[in-house]
Amino acid sequence: MSLVEAIARDADELTAIRRDLHAHPELGMVEHRTAAEVARFLQEWGIEVHRGVGQTGVVGVLRAGNGAGAIGLRADMDALPMHEAGDAPWRSQIAGRMHACGHDGHTTMLLGAARYLARTRNFNGTVHFIFQPGEEGCGGALAMLQDGLFERFPCDAIFGMHNQPDLPVGEFRLTPGPAMAGGGFFDITITGVGAHAARPEAGIDPVLVACHIVTALQSIVSRTVSPREPAVISVTKIVGGDAHNVIPQTARVGGTLRGMSKAVLADMQAAMHRITENVAAAFGATAVLAFGPTFIPLCNDPRQTAFAAETAMALVGADQVDPDAPAVMGSEDFAYMLDRVPGSFLRIGNGPGEGLHHQRYDFNDAAIPYGSALFAALVERFLPRGTAL
Ligand SMILES: [Zn+2]
Ligand SMILES: [Zn+2]
Repeated sequence: MSLVEAIARDADELTAIRRDLHAHPELGMVEHRTAAEVARFLQEWGIEVHRGVGQTGVVGVLRAGNGAGAIGLRADMDALPMHEAGDAPWRSQIAGRMHACGHDGHTTMLLGAARYLARTRNFNGTVHFIFQPGEEGCGGALAMLQDGLFERFPCDAIFGMHNQPDLPVGEFRLTPGPAMAGGGFFDITITGVGAHAARPEAGIDPVLVACHIVTALQSIVSRTVSPREPAVISVTKIVGGDAHNVIPQTARVGGTLRGMSKAVLADMQAAMHRITENVAAAFGATAVLAFGPTFIPLCNDPRQTAFAAETAMALVGADQVDPDAPAVMGSEDFAYMLDRVPGSFLRIGNGPGEGLHHQRYDFNDAAIPYGSALFAALVERFLPRGTAL
């Protein structure tokens, strides 16, 4: 019997867990019920549980044999602040909260692997099951790291996965090297001098300054970043003024930047400061540029990514696995864990349906046995029995 088939024997119970989590979504860093459920299941299956790692984070520890090697498997637990428009019986029971990114499925897939591994213990070493809070821009990965995640639970390699709508169920995609963008949000506050709109000579118009800054910012990606480097600056907000006949005192501009390397992001940020402040000065205005929380690019370790691709191919067949898929400009805070420990973040097929963050999105329960089996296979191949690392 294949690993997928072995775990599929638990499919009904795992599906019930996934749908219960889906019906009770919680926002980042306040996943109290979800964390309690995760801890309860792990305990029930004989796994050592550590709660409160990075506020609501949970780590399960499972050992077998006497091997010194350790592997980390990570899932995220948080939902999004949005209204669910779907009508499944397990739809969100909490207004304005929705599992629209499938983290309910990720948590369940890792629970499925934990249950199987606790039952079979067909490995030699230590597995750390890392249930992370607050992935959706809430800093959950950093919170766990600052709480000593890898000092308390050292790992030789770490792996995580995200579901991908439109990729068929049972298929996997991996990207060696830089795989997802880093970046962040920015806000610019421009201060001029308010005046009557009919007497512009009495003021300094911050709206005009904002327009020049927005235009000049678009020169950064085209003129200061190498054409070989993926990079984006999108200005998504201009706010200024209330009346047709008043030149306002201030105007605000906001948006996001993305890039595939820390160096490119730093260069882009320096250029944004230079342009914003000097364009404003050229008009006699001032501008203050502030960056919100930034996230680093996600970089997959090539060796561990090849290992994960081989493991996936052994599980579902080579034609179901793309070991060299193109990078994407989305972001993911597992990047902070991969910055500390080599590993890989892969994508698992969620089948046809709405895209991530859509109000009718739903995780596909048919994907659970594949995700759980891949997590379990990574453990069995990374910590093989009969050998000590
Ligand atoms: Zn998301
Ligand atoms: Zn997500």
